[in-house]
Amino acid sequence: MTTASDSAGGVTDTEWSAAVEAVRGLTPGDDGDKIQLICHVNPDGDALGSMLGFALGLRRLGFTRLRATFPGPFELPEPYQTLPGRDLLVPDDHAFRDADLVMTFDVAAESRLGALVELLPPAPCVVALDHHASNTGFGRINLVDPRAAATSVVAEGLLSRLGVALDAEIAECLYVALSTDTGSFKFDMTTPAVHELAARLIETGISPGAISRRIFDTRPFGAIKLVGEVLGRAALDPTAAGGRGMVWTYATLADLERHGQRPYVLDTLIDPVRSVAEADVAVIVKELAAGEWAVSLRSKGAVDVSRVATAFGGGGHRLAAGFTGHGTPGEVVVAVRKKLEACLIQPTHP
Ligand code: 5GP
Ligand code: MN
Repeated sequence: MTTASDSAGGVTDTEWSAAVEAVRGLTPGDDGDKIQLICHVNPDGDALGSMLGFALGLRRLGFTRLRATFPGPFELPEPYQTLPGRDLLVPDDHAFRDADLVMTFDVAAESRLGALVELLPPAPCVVALDHHASNTGFGRINLVDPRAAATSVVAEGLLSRLGVALDAEIAECLYVALSTDTGSFKFDMTTPAVHELAARLIETGISPGAISRRIFDTRPFGAIKLVGEVLGRAALDPTAAGGRGMVWTYATLADLERHGQRPYVLDTLIDPVRSVAEADVAVIVKELAAGEWAVSLRSKGAVDVSRVATAFGGGGHRLAAGFTGHGTPGEVVVAVRKKLEACLIQPTHP
């Protein structure tokens, strides 16, 4: 059968076989069967969904010594708190230090692993599942497919090669991941193979309506007020990016506190901002700590924002990327603006 990941074609047969061997080489119930799964800091739907969906698949293969984690505070965004497999989640300081296999999900670079990066060198094997073009290749086995719409596409490719059948729990995790990273099946990489995978996930009996409502269409009242305020201070710079335009705004920790909100409520703030017709590029600057900002970049096609992010030590995809910035929001945005011109995507047919 053709899978969403086959058609993307970014992972070689050798890499798939090596990854299958890395899992099949462990015997559930043996001494050497500890598997540690890790996803990126400030996990999103793809990070958590691909990791937990895959972890449930490992459970179906008989593995019981499984732990899943992510760096930083052990706090899940509300919409992900009911994901199947959440019982496998442990705080980062409870991760296996002596895992026989470490697997990473949606992690583009070691910097996205925080303190958990220490788990890589002692691990007998590290398998990295990802779809970022900027992936640094830190795994021993790298299943990295930049044409895959989500890391969950890669995770499903490996599950099927391991002979794990999809069930409703695995499917719910993978569906959350797939719908998050495709913007609810709206982005360009929403290929026929993506819809085919979504169809197979839905065939397990999951409820796409209920899942979408929980993930995309439910937020506290205070979040609406907060987003209103943050959108109210958005600024348009029509001459940026060679005249393609840039729109930007920022949110501070004080904003969150004033409205009694957790940072995850700003995860989707980029969506209304990037809808601005007069700007190709959208930038959101979100305070992480004093003077430290999570910067989200989006382009409609004129700028390779992955190159912009990489220049500041981050990474991502061509049209969606991010990095950690320093200074004031204005300083961060001025620095980004300066980089945009150099990262314009030249039209192939002038
Ligand atoms: P978001 O703006 O939604 O946080 O991230 C957009 C994309 O950029 C995601 O694919 C995310 O993984 C990636 N990204 C965001 N921040 C960073 C970063 O600091 N480093 C790297 N390597 N990728 C990032
Ligand atoms: Mn992803």
